[in-house]
Amino acid sequence: MILGLFTAVFGSPRVALERLVVVLMLAMTEDQVLLIEAAREFAESELLACDRAWDEDESSMVEVLPQLAEMGFLNLCISEEYGGLGCTYRTYARILHEISRYSPSTAVSLSVHNMVGMVVRDFALEQKKNEWLSQWGTPESFAAFALTEAGAGSDPGASKTTARKVEGGYRVNGEKMWITNGMHARWFVTLARTDQPGQKSGLSALLVDGNETGIGRDKILGKMGIRGSETAVIHYDDVFVPDDHLLGNEGEGMKACLSALDGGRIGIASQASGIAQACLDEMAAYAKQREQFDQPIANFQAIQEMIADSFTELSAARALIQSAADLMDSGDLEPAASAKAKLFASEAANRIAYRAVQIHGGSGYVKECRVEQLARDVRVTTIYEGTSEIQRVIIARDLLRGH
Ligand SMILES: Cc1cc2nc3c(=O)[nH]c(=O)nc-3n(C[C@H](O)[C@H](O)[C@H](O)COP(=O)(O)OP(=O)(O)OC[C@H]3O[C@@H](n4cnc5c(N)ncnc54)[C@H](O)[C@@H]3O)c2cc1C
Repeated sequence: MILGLFTAVFGSPRVALERLVVVLMLAMTEDQVLLIEAAREFAESELLACDRAWDEDESSMVEVLPQLAEMGFLNLCISEEYGGLGCTYRTYARILHEISRYSPSTAVSLSVHNMVGMVVRDFALEQKKNEWLSQWGTPESFAAFALTEAGAGSDPGASKTTARKVEGGYRVNGEKMWITNGMHARWFVTLARTDQPGQKSGLSALLVDGNETGIGRDKILGKMGIRGSETAVIHYDDVFVPDDHLLGNEGEGMKACLSALDGGRIGIASQASGIAQACLDEMAAYAKQREQFDQPIANFQAIQEMIADSFTELSAARALIQSAADLMDSGDLEPAASAKAKLFASEAANRIAYRAVQIHGGSGYVKECRVEQLARDVRVTTIYEGTSEIQRVIIARDLLRGH
């Protein structure tokens, strides 16, 4: 019956069948819908209070890693073959949105950990995949993505960290900066130069074991927001990395890292949409409860405009995220699709957080009020995993190539 309906819409039975397969593939199973709801309930009851406390004293979200592992959130996108939940990217994005709504710090930490899992899935040697991915859902496999250096931010090709070839592997030397999950991660995808003297083989991606001798970690303190998420400087002092920890081919590390970021940006966009959702929840509740001129401020058109604009922008952001996630699920994700989702969601979320503070008036300007924290947490979403300016470069390049 459904096929008949699709044939009537698409004309040809073959096209109808193809479309139906895609729709069925992308449809959420009942389990996935329940998982999203469980994520929301868990985040509200377990993470919100922690997130407020982490913001206060800059302690780390790693204290909730055991609960996150128990819920299956550490291996959401890892296939069932390796013991993961095998979620579609659409479901994954929705889960991050719900978690971010109550804890933006947990959302970014999970996003990075899951992104690294996908780099391992896509680029590790077959014989290592099972060993690593079967453990991915445990706190002991917590992972980080080490691309940025003090002198190589938007331009990771300028990385100076080196991986010198030695018998059986590499010796890594250098320093990575701003590394999320850096204080407790076991695994670090690390971009390093594998140029040999006299040749230019470029940059390679290695899975570095944080337990190896020579790894040093310094916590970056004093962040404006997402203060529960660890950010660290990682020092590599002649760290040994076995040959079979190479991800992809030698010299093709940028390919692995950039493809990771294509998916990662959907995660950051979802983090931003979750923060925007929290701001919208807060502004609507406050507008109905706060009275001025003998009536709720929600009655004033100026307030309604801010709420309406926020709701509309959030809906648009979520549509872009879903569209990019669906492309990821069907294997057709182009860099520009996740760049658009991240650019729009992060910038819209910043505007929405601004309005949330505005609607709260003076009350929104003190720590006691959650929107004060959300307005700080949201700021970084236009910066990490590629600034808004870099997203625009990716989007414009894509458009101009087609003209
Ligand atoms: C809290 C936090 C967590 C992070 N986590 C990680 C992590 O886990 N792993 C990791 O590898 N990195 C991480 N980063 C680093 C982050 O990805 C970089 O900060 C970001 O890519 C920008 O690099 P930069 O800070 O060196 O800024 P720069 O590259 O120096 O940019 C400065 C300004 O110049 C602009 N600019 C640069 N180049 C261009 C251009 N071509 N066109 C137009 N404008 C341009 C930028 O948009 C920006 O406005 C994190 C950063 C923060 C703050």
